[in-house]
Amino acid sequence: MPQRSHPNNIPVGISACVLGESVRYNGGHKQSRLCTEVLGEVFAFRPFCPEVAIGLGVPRPSIRLVGDAAHPRVVGSDDASLDVTEPLRHYSDATARSLAELCGYIFIKNSPSCGLFRVKVYNDDTSNPSFGYPLAESGRGVFAAAVVKNNPLLPVEEEGRLQDPQLRENFILRVFALHDWRQAVAQEPTAKALIDFHSRYKYTLMAHSQKGYRLLGQLVANSQAKTPAALCDEYLPLFMAALAKPATRKNHCNTLLHILGYLKRTVAGGIRQDLVEVIDRYRQGVVPLAVPVTLIKHYVDRYGNDYIRCQVYLDPYPLELGLHNQI
Ligand code: SF4
Repeated sequence: MPQRSHPNNIPVGISACVLGESVRYNGGHKQSRLCTEVLGEVFAFRPFCPEVAIGLGVPRPSIRLVGDAAHPRVVGSDDASLDVTEPLRHYSDATARSLAELCGYIFIKNSPSCGLFRVKVYNDDTSNPSFGYPLAESGRGVFAAAVVKNNPLLPVEEEGRLQDPQLRENFILRVFALHDWRQAVAQEPTAKALIDFHSRYKYTLMAHSQKGYRLLGQLVANSQAKTPAALCDEYLPLFMAALAKPATRKNHCNTLLHILGYLKRTVAGGIRQDLVEVIDRYRQGVVPLAVPVTLIKHYVDRYGNDYIRCQVYLDPYPLELGLHNQI
């Protein structure tokens, strides 16, 4: 069965300790085998360690977020006179502005620099009985916050959350899609390039967000009055937001049935009925998504027209990643 040729060098940022670099405050690392052994085959990782970059050294005193969760300061966990807020912010802002070529970023949880979600922020008000305890509100690591702020369309995740099959699949899908956009449209934005791109992602969008699918369809259909650059500026945020919505089992089934409709004239009714039953087994959770997608792709490749054969939905990333086997 022919496969789309997928890139194997997509630039993705990553916390250096996740790649196994011994840069943690205690001289250790947090190597992720998923990242080094699986994703390393398709991503060209660019590691960053903000704390080493600002000269804190290894080993070093541990640091933590304190004060206002929205604008925390970063101080030593044991000695609050060690205040690295300014150098860390300065490095983070400058570096985050230089990451435009990245198609994704993998952070690590709990770090005052690299934590993306729910990083503890401690009360630093000495007059408060809760002094030294975590606040009710959590925050985001200073470097992670700068990356997100300066690159709002960049797919970002924490390494730990990538152990969840749905989150992993969704993150990798968005990384491949953003890379595809950069290659197919952004390098030379034309109306044709955008229409071709949108056409290839029609069923991917349908599986992830009916609303996004409709909005983007209207945007492309009513594009005549806009310049290609303006249209692309409007399209990409909506596209990335639509893909960030997890595709439900129900939407996958709906999408697969739509695709099956393209085989009405070329594949015998009995075979199509078998495929409907396989989709139904996926709907019931008896088989993973890989089963209906692989079978339908088999028939689409042989009996589908060019339009349906080009759908990214049936082949969004390398099969070897096994992502459809786990959802
Ligand atoms: S600053 Fe980030 S990359 Fe460096 S050790 Fe901490 S979590 Fe890892």
